[in-house]
Amino acid sequence: MLIIDAHLDLAWNAMQWSRDLLQSVYTLRAREGRMSGDGRGQNTVSLPELRRGHVALCFGTVLARVNERGVPDIDYASPAQAYAAARGHVAYYHALAQQGSIRLITSRTLLDAHLAEWEAWAKTKDDAAQGVASGRRKDEWSTGDSPSSFIPHPSSFVSPSSFQTPPTGVVISMECADPIMFPDQVAEWYDAGLRLIGPGHYGRGRYVGGTGTDVGFNEAGIQLLNAMERSGIILDVTHLSDEAFWEAMSLYDGPILASHHNCRALAPHQRQLSDEQIRALIQRDAVIGAAFDVWMLIPDWSFGKSSNKQVTIATVAEHIDHVCQIAGDSLHAAIGSDLDGGFGRESAPFDLDTIADVQRLAEALTEHNFADDDIANVMYQNWLRLLRRAWREG
Ligand SMILES: [Zn+2]
Repeated sequence: MLIIDAHLDLAWNAMQWSRDLLQSVYTLRAREGRMSGDGRGQNTVSLPELRRGHVALCFGTVLARVNERGVPDIDYASPAQAYAAARGHVAYYHALAQQGSIRLITSRTLLDAHLAEWEAWAKTKDDAAQGVASGRRKDEWSTGDSPSSFIPHPSSFVSPSSFQTPPTGVVISMECADPIMFPDQVAEWYDAGLRLIGPGHYGRGRYVGGTGTDVGFNEAGIQLLNAMERSGIILDVTHLSDEAFWEAMSLYDGPILASHHNCRALAPHQRQLSDEQIRALIQRDAVIGAAFDVWMLIPDWSFGKSSNKQVTIATVAEHIDHVCQIAGDSLHAAIGSDLDGGFGRESAPFDLDTIADVQRLAEALTEHNFADDDIANVMYQNWLRLLRRAWREG
């Protein structure tokens, strides 16, 4: 099963945490063994693991904020500094693409060609698997692609080339619009490859109030939404305050999604979507990506006290099922894992070792009586349809 993951802070991990994403997850863990800080030595994402997990496409963020809070590696004192940091993230994706490690996906034409290649690869693999049933020896086709398990196995250490998948595609997204120095600069970012903007993050931003505030869009924020619509940039409502969420729904007429967002009914916190918000998103034909951060999956999470042992990949499936029950179909729920988004294995579901284990979400959805087509919708088809709709031409 192919996967599209709508939220990974790849460039931020590479540039701000100095992780070489071409290395295996296990090499990176060993390198960070003596570093202190949440998530250090606990990473779950690298390019070989994305390919092993059949992540055909992901939305890779650029991430920088402007404020006085001074959180290391994310907060900058001025728009020019945040601009430079975020443009550095864009440059990292371009560098990876130039060396063939990823593919930048910026148009309908590129998207269709990229997915066709992945689907052809998956079909070849399925045909090979059927060869097992017809009695072919198991060593007649490539290894290094066995189903993932919680305990790392030797195939985790195989080099990416032996997976024989196409490279993972990346759609460049922006988490927090602070690095956009002024609204009309959106066009420059579009030309650099940016296709998705979530204007807010935590706290009050330059354009809008984010998670944990009751602040809406300011005048520049409204201009930003207009500039996004003119450029054809998708709006990501994740991290908006409730006030800003409802303003965005009436101010913005372009395509909308929620990249990494769970259900407030199951994990009560303003960070998550209320049922009313989910219904409004469904009416706009939006898609909601389920996040794998443990504190966003269960009620009453207490940082430093709660343990991820009570959260599994099946818990993520409960949030997906909740969205599907509200929608009455499987067309609006998807994946936006946020893995390695400032945390590691310690704050991810207990039965997840690396991002390749996101494949096991398919089994968890089977427990909720999802049919094969419904599972495919959640794993990748819904994001694919949304992008195709947003990028009708070009
Ligand atoms: Zn986030």
